Amino acid sequence: MRNCLRKLASILVRLSYTDFMINPFFANKFEQAVKVTGCPLCFMRQQAESKYIHSIIADHINDPASRVHIINSLGYCPTHTWKIAEVEKKEDGESLGTSIIYEHLTLVIRERLEKLKKYPKTLTQNNPLLKQVQKYLPQQASPSASLRTDTPCRVCVMAAESDDSYVRWLLEGLSDPNNDETRRLYRQSNRLCFDHLRQSLDKALPASAAGLEFLLEDSLDMLKALDSDLRVHISKYDYDKKAPRSEAEQFSWLRAVYFFAGRREGENPKPEFSDRQEN
Ligand SMILES: [Zn+2]
Ligand SMILES: [Zn+2]
Repeated sequence: MRNCLRKLASILVRLSYTDFMINPFFANKFEQAVKVTGCPLCFMRQQAESKYIHSIIADHINDPASRVHIINSLGYCPTHTWKIAEVEKKEDGESLGTSIIYEHLTLVIRERLEKLKKYPKTLTQNNPLLKQVQKYLPQQASPSASLRTDTPCRVCVMAAESDDSYVRWLLEGLSDPNNDETRRLYRQSNRLCFDHLRQSLDKALPASAAGLEFLLEDSLDMLKALDSDLRVHISKYDYDKKAPRSEAEQFSWLRAVYFFAGRREGENPKPEFSDRQEN
């Protein structure tokens, strides 16, 4: 009986340890992310994207499966097209990988565009009979259909997978009843952006409900303070109410942009970017 109880206790300890222990991989990255300007999870996603892009260029550029995906998705979304070019140039000082990707893609687009060369002439054709017949034919695809794709950008897909893990790990860390290290670190950050807050709501589980509760309370406090600072900031534009603004008031509009838009890639404006103090 005593052995049974001991076994049960060890299972319970193990279960609670597994459920609540902050993921060490996440903890390490989160500690760095709370020090940067803007949403820490946006920063972590951007770092994961850079790492993934580097692996595409370094190891998978000539891998047939990767190439098929690149062609099926017609390259990458505009954000990641720029990022691939910039990451390779910044890290390797060259552009061989970018050139290989786009040499192949240029060839594919050229072939598809060749097939569309006759299309402008069909616009000027005035054949009443053909117009009558077309009414009864199935709706034609748009002229640019062969130049579009439903296959998403591979980096966007990977970034969404990273986001999913990071949001879940953050919630787990914030739910740890025996260790408030994640909460302490989170309070040092510029807080989650609107999108990551919404993701937290959608990804919380029973085991991470306490973490979500903490995030919601913290976000409400943050938004209440932001609203108040924005009001005062606006009121001090009135000629007769001009008075020195506190740092929080001066920075309020930029805090609002960070919350609604998230952290942007690369350099992010710091509080000093805010309105100049007018006395
Ligand atoms: Zn974010
Ligand atoms: Zn993308």
